Amino acid sequence: MQSPKNWPKDWIVHKFGGTSVADAACFRRVADIVEARAEPRQAIVLSACRGVTDALFSVVATAEAQGETAGELAALRKRHSDIAEELLSSNEAAPYLAALDADLDDIKGVLQTIKLTRSAAPSARDLIAGYGEIWSSRLFARFLDAQGKRAVQWCDARTVLVVDWGPLGPAVDWRESQSNLSRALASDFQGALVITGFVASDRRGAQTTLGRNGSDFSASIFGVLLDAAEINIWTDVEGVLSADPRRVPDATVIDQLSYNEAMELAYFGAKVLHPQTMAPAVKRGTPIWIKSTFAPERPGTLICAAP
Ligand code: ADP
Ligand code: ASP
Ligand code: MG
Repeated sequence: MQSPKNWPKDWIVHKFGGTSVADAACFRRVADIVEARAEPRQAIVLSACRGVTDALFSVVATAEAQGETAGELAALRKRHSDIAEELLSSNEAAPYLAALDADLDDIKGVLQTIKLTRSAAPSARDLIAGYGEIWSSRLFARFLDAQGKRAVQWCDARTVLVVDWGPLGPAVDWRESQSNLSRALASDFQGALVITGFVASDRRGAQTTLGRNGSDFSASIFGVLLDAAEINIWTDVEGVLSADPRRVPDATVIDQLSYNEAMELAYFGAKVLHPQTMAPAVKRGTPIWIKSTFAPERPGTLICAAP
């Protein structure tokens, strides 16, 4: 693995999952959490708003079945424009909405090809699936910037992360990704770097994803690239639980797990973490905290090297 450029050692990564960015109230809550931490350098990785990735896969399926996609696209537009109009002034919302409409036009073009060919190439499916993270993170970056408290930079992970998809899933090209990040980010940047989760590029420069639930993995990849001191995964439960809370309602929060224990849990299906999340953190011993966006004062779960 490529050793990082000389980034300052105080980068902290915060990743917020889809339920944490479901609506305007959620965006406000996320902003409050990161602002309250008063950390000089934050990398804030965002998932798509709750349900948006599923909706994007669904619109691809509708096109494959030659169905009418206009209604689904209009619902996606409304979902994001409602949040933008609630969080931003009309002057601030206008460029956001213009970019959203340009993306929707691109999506319409790709859907037209899918309709004509009656099937979606994996590259077309990946391209469409990744827009949710573009829309949520662009919106959050504008919202945070409008608070005027500190510098905010938006980072489109498609311009930084290069991955090769193999039988074991996405493998990161660390050297290429590191040099892309060095170009995109000033080494002495201070403030909030708002990053699209889930998306990356392949070697040809085409958009790809890190697989379902992949924004957790995005967070740990950026943790390595920035040589971060800590990674926080903010979600809708108070930490890693002793069992899936949807099946075992009285499951309890586990205080601490080793990287190996967390990896095992994730591989055996604990949805709270993408199974590849731990691997990049292990080498540097970067601690990973799992915490609740809805109860940030709770201690959460610490994943670190075994004592
Ligand atoms: P996010 O949108 O924040 O990425 P996910 O839905 O991907 O959140 O993961 C969180 C969900 O994982 C929880 O709401 C919970 O239902 C589920 N889950 C399954 N197994 C576990 C477990 N062992 N501990 C915690 N959560 C779990
Ligand atoms: N939005 C993507 C998904 O739903 C990635 C993620 O949220 O982690 O799979
Ligand atoms: Mg998840």
